[in-house]
Amino acid sequence: MIQFADRIKSLPPYLFAEIDRKKAELKKKGVDIISLAIGDPDLRTPDNIIEALKSAAGDVNNHHYPDYNGLLEFRQAVADWYKSRFNVELDPQSEVVSLIGSKEGIAHMPMAFINPGDITLAPDPAYPVYKTATMFAGGETYLMPLKKENKFLIDFKSIPEDVLKKAKLLFFNYPNNPTAAVADDDFYVEVIEVAKKYDILVCHDAAYTEMTYDGYRAKSFLEFEGAKDVGVEFHSLSKTYSMTGWRVGFVVGNKDAVAGLGKIKSNIDSGIFQAVQMAGIEALKGDQGCVGEMRAIFQERRDVLCDGLTSLGIKVEKPKATFYMWAEVPAGYTSVSFVDHLLSAGVVVTPGSGFGSMGEGYFRMTFTLDKARISEAIERVRKIRNW
Ligand SMILES: *Cc1c(COP(=O)(O)O)cnc(C)c1O
Repeated sequence: MIQFADRIKSLPPYLFAEIDRKKAELKKKGVDIISLAIGDPDLRTPDNIIEALKSAAGDVNNHHYPDYNGLLEFRQAVADWYKSRFNVELDPQSEVVSLIGSKEGIAHMPMAFINPGDITLAPDPAYPVYKTATMFAGGETYLMPLKKENKFLIDFKSIPEDVLKKAKLLFFNYPNNPTAAVADDDFYVEVIEVAKKYDILVCHDAAYTEMTYDGYRAKSFLEFEGAKDVGVEFHSLSKTYSMTGWRVGFVVGNKDAVAGLGKIKSNIDSGIFQAVQMAGIEALKGDQGCVGEMRAIFQERRDVLCDGLTSLGIKVEKPKATFYMWAEVPAGYTSVSFVDHLLSAGVVVTPGSGFGSMGEGYFRMTFTLDKARISEAIERVRKIRNW
């Protein structure tokens, strides 16, 4: 009889399992399913990046174990990109480490900085990795509610003093998944103040800084004074260049924090295939026209989705960033019962409660399908509207 470790037994029940089961049932009946639940861009990786991989794959120099921290040219490309995009100076030798996607780095961070019993601060609702990775390291997560009345920003004043004193790590993420909220300058300044006062290592998950609309420009946490003294930023090529499957990201910022994560990683993985790093260099240094095209495509889809939902009597604010729409379910529904109702029309969306208890009463839709499919989803929902 196979015995699982406690850390596996402690994983929260998989909320999406029941939805997956119902989806499979509908599919079996031949229902055409429109999934607006996937956080993965449907767009193709730009050709110049694919070509860079192809030619690098043929070079024998790339067929061996890569450097643990990443090719210096890759780390230099990251530093150059941070300089040109955010005007942030980074030393590629000591302040940049490559990651097998930012999820990998985020997941290993508590292993480097959390002792059993230590506290991690993480938002609720949120990307589930912050909490799970903390649990894997034996730590505890204090969940910081993201409330609509606070524009889905963290309210540090509501966190008890003794929690702040015990906290070792703070995870946060703007532009935000799942709420699509963006943070203003004052918020970043406050994060740095809190981190300094309580000696907390800040981990900003910045996966969506390039996926912005209506001319909005998202900032890096590292643009703010003192940020590099207290923290790091996780970034990724996944969303910016439609490269989710390639598994390439990076962590930048405080050199001791970057080195700590690097130490854990060098005992677990052996870096990213160098040909993928060469493609990453092409992504960061090549023509950035593809990023503007990506923004234009998602902005149009966002408008179709949000205008459609408004026409169905659902209150939505058009997000300034990310490919997520986060809205309250109509009166009389819970997150799960609303998702179930939409499923009866073959439309799959994500219950807000899947991202934490503060997500109850909300649902999340992605716009990672073309406009025609999004319109079709709206029309199907119109037929089953009972609110
Ligand atoms: C997509 C996403 C990431 C990036 O994941 P990769 O591992 O780099 O593909 C990180 N954080 C959040 C909140 C995300 O939604």
